[in-house]
Amino acid sequence: MRSVAAVAATTAAMAATGRLYPTFCMATETDTRRIALISDIHGNLPAFEAALRAIDDEGVDGIWCLGDLVGYGAHPNECVELAARSVDLCLIGNHDLVVIDRLEISDFSANAAAAAEWTKEILSADSRAYLEKFDTHDEKQAIGLYHASPRDPIWEYVLSSLAADDCFDEMDPRVGAVGHSHVALAFWRKGDIPTAGAQAEPNSQLDLSQDRWLLNPGSVGQPRDGDPRASWLLLELESWQATWRRTEYPVDEAADAIRAAGLPKQLADRLYYGQ
Ligand code: ZN
Repeated sequence: MRSVAAVAATTAAMAATGRLYPTFCMATETDTRRIALISDIHGNLPAFEAALRAIDDEGVDGIWCLGDLVGYGAHPNECVELAARSVDLCLIGNHDLVVIDRLEISDFSANAAAAAEWTKEILSADSRAYLEKFDTHDEKQAIGLYHASPRDPIWEYVLSSLAADDCFDEMDPRVGAVGHSHVALAFWRKGDIPTAGAQAEPNSQLDLSQDRWLLNPGSVGQPRDGDPRASWLLLELESWQATWRRTEYPVDEAADAIRAAGLPKQLADRLYYGQ
């Protein structure tokens, strides 16, 4: 797991390129063929419900999820059931893979491993069957979709321009999206200019109609970019606009449920800080 310091260092490295926020602007218009891109729900039902209500208010045509429905949070089955009812396309992430025995628990940090053990115990047969249907990536849509990265869809954290540059080399679609790092951000490659990137502020909008892009919607259920609100991305595929959204939710409900389940206390505490 990347530390907060690593994320901060990455952001500083982005700033050093001198190309922070060159094309971000405030959202001003709407369009058709709207897709809500969500990721890293992590068993946080209050956050997932709040995000879906906000997405519903936007009147989207579809909801795509980049994986990690479970792990860390106290409502894995409820989140899988809600995804089964509301999500149109879903990938599988590393925290989903470990609870269906496709990854080793020893590959995870202590708190993540404890949560994975607990989730495996209570995961229903229906939840397991739902998760087993999915792949870690999908290049058949209008944009490339990867849980972690185009070159390693299970484990790689794309948090630096250097990593993003290698990903562009591996990625066939012009535009792609990743989850996994739980940080709302974008990287871009424009002609011969070196790949650059920046964290995405709430309501910031990008024009994706030219050049190459790798976007992260941030995390619904466990944001790690200092903003505790659920993070998601509105994609308008006809006009090629991407707009990052943040949605408030009752953090106390998610944190209390984590403590009541006997999961590591730090998994509750971090939700208040968005780390
Ligand atoms: Zn995750």
